[in-house]
Amino acid sequence: MRLRRTCKEVTLLLMQAQDQGPLPWWDRLALTLHMKACDACPRVRDQLALMQRATAQWRRYSDEGGSSPTDDRSDKG
Ligand SMILES: [Zn+2]
Repeated sequence: MRLRRTCKEVTLLLMQAQDQGPLPWWDRLALTLHMKACDACPRVRDQLALMQRATAQWRRYSDEGGSSPTDDRSDKG
């Protein structure tokens, strides 16, 4: 198993986690190891978290205006 990831791969994994939900444990382990060794990627993660919060707020605002039913399907595999 390859646990060393490049910064580019780590960034992709972070965005994938935001988009599709929790990552498998081996990806999470690789992320954790990389975060300890890298200065840049923890900042990227913080920025992504900030953006996600802003997006969630924006969604709340737009939901108040519209009358679309909440479709909260989460596939767990
Ligand atoms: Zn990195």
